[in-house]
This record gives sequence, structure tokens and C-alpha cells, in this order.
Amino acid sequence: MSDEVLVKVRDLKMHFQVGRGLSLSKARVRAVDGVSFDIYRGETLGLVGESGCGKSTLGRTILGLYRASGGSVSFGDVDVLSRRGRAMKELRRKMQLIFQDPSASLNSRRTVGQILLEPFIIHGIGTKAERAAAVAELVERVGLSSWHLSRYPHEMSGGQKQRVGIARALALRPGFIVCDEAVSALDVSIQAQIINLLEDLQSDYGLTYLFISHNLSVVHHVSDRVGVMYLGKIVELGSHEDIYRRAFHPYSKALLAAVPVADPERRPEGRMLLAGDVPSPIAPPGGCRFHTRCPSAMEACARIEPELRDLGGGHLVACHLSDEKGKGGATQS
Ligand code: SF4
Repeated sequence: MSDEVLVKVRDLKMHFQVGRGLSLSKARVRAVDGVSFDIYRGETLGLVGESGCGKSTLGRTILGLYRASGGSVSFGDVDVLSRRGRAMKELRRKMQLIFQDPSASLNSRRTVGQILLEPFIIHGIGTKAERAAAVAELVERVGLSSWHLSRYPHEMSGGQKQRVGIARALALRPGFIVCDEAVSALDVSIQAQIINLLEDLQSDYGLTYLFISHNLSVVHHVSDRVGVMYLGKIVELGSHEDIYRRAFHPYSKALLAAVPVADPERRPEGRMLLAGDVPSPIAPPGGCRFHTRCPSAMEACARIEPELRDLGGGHLVACHLSDEKGKGGATQS
């Protein structure tokens, strides 16, 4: 991981209008609601949170797959959200997505060879022979054999299909990949193989990952830094150690407490378990969005929204308890 910021996200918002056609209401789902953070070149930034917290929407909005409701995303010195048409197509070569469900993301009527040729054809890259050579190299690099090229997705296992999805994302040699629950649909033993593959590819090609998952154990294994998301906001962001050893935000602590422990004797005492459901993103609670479920909530929490503050060394937390303990610092620029 370098000190160079590759992806800069500032005050990003993605709101979806509720309803369809003439029945469109004024209500909006605030899936992503003012998110700011940096991703450094060569790192893996993990992004965790419960289902529906907006983490997948955030990943897709960063890639420009949704038209953001506000804010900005920079990839190097390129303003991602202002790009359209040919300029956006060019940028897509450098920013790719690995989907959660390989069965749904691969065209079932095309062979693996055809699927992997597609990116080269769409972007007009190489001669026929060069494309064939590139595809042969890709399948080998992701641990498949040349005979897989004539197979259809339904003839392959979940792990093999995800390897095809990774090869497709890798085809145009991107610098940045959003892995959206990339191993969540796979068996545990296969998850480990795919994670090892992603790590090997990262060191071989200098890739930068945004690794989105609801599974804290998986994120623990792959991430250099981790962001915790709740109801459209980042509530804590820090190094691997900041989150897994020194988590400050009550929500982060609750998520960590919910990770299953094989040996009940080693289960931490007094662990906090989350009660209730995540509130609706159409009408999120005022003040701190977590105050309706937070065991440490104070009177001010329902009125005043906490800002992300640096506890030191880039450990950012959005919680009034950080003010109380006198650890407040500068807010993120
Ligand atoms: Fe809990 Fe208040 Fe901190 Fe929100 S700001 S996490 S409600 S203590």
C-alpha cells in the first residue's frame, strides 16, 4: 500500500426515488448519504455493515454505474461522475466490478471463451490472435484450464464461475476493482481459495480493492483498512488494528461481538448484541442514525449528528462519545 490516493470520495450521495412511473412519490431511499473517504493505491479497503446499509450501492456509485445524487468521486485526477459516453467507457477499463453471484453475472448462453473475449471486442483491443492469446493467459492465471473455454457457466461449479468472473474483471488490466460480496455465495473452503487468488492477483498486478462484505471474518482476512457503514453513512474507518483491536463506535463493537466464536469459553464477556432492525433509509432517524439501537445513546445523540473525527493516525469515528473522552480531532477534509 502506498501513500498515493487512487480513489477520493467526497460527500457522495445516492438517493433513489420510491415508486414507478406516474406513481413516483416524493419519498427517497437515502442508500448512500454523504460519504467521504480515500482509497490508497495498492491497498484493500474492506467495507462492512448489515444488509441494506448501502455498501453495495456505494461501490456501484463510485464506479459510475449509478448516477450519483451528489458529491464527487476522483480516480487519480479523473472526475468519475462527470464522465459520459466514450469517456466513461474508457474509464471502465480501469475500474472494474466482481459480482456476488457468478451464476447471475455470467451470460448462460455464452461459453467461457466467448465471455472472456467480450471485453476485448467491446473496447476494440488486439487482433483475433492477440485476443485468443490474452484469453488463454487469463484462464490460466485464475486457475482454470484451456478446456474450460468451451464450457458454459451452468457446467461449472460456483468457485469456477467466480474465477471466470474474476478473469473477466481482470481482462482489461484495471487498476481498481470493487469486489461486491465476491465470496459470499461460495462454500467456506472455496472462499479461501478465491481470497488467496485475489491476494495473488493484487501483488502481481498492483491492484487496489474495495472489498465489500457483510462478513467481518472475511474482511478481517483481506483488508489493510476497514470502513464500517450504517444506514448510508461511514461510522468508523481505520486500520485493520483500529477496527479489530480498538473499535470505538458502539455499532462496530456490536458487529464484532456478533461474529461467531467456535469456543464458547473464549467468547468475550459483556459483549453487546444488537437489538431491533435497521431503521428505514427512507426516513432515517435524526441526529446519530444509530441512536435508536445504541446502548450508549445520550440525549444529544437524537438531536446532533456526529461528524467523522480523527482519534489519531487516521482512525475516524462518528460518535459523540469521542468528544466526551476528549479525543476529538480534525474532521476529515
Ligand atoms: Fe451511540 Fe450517541 Fe455514539 Fe450514536 S453518537 S453511536 S447514539 S453514543
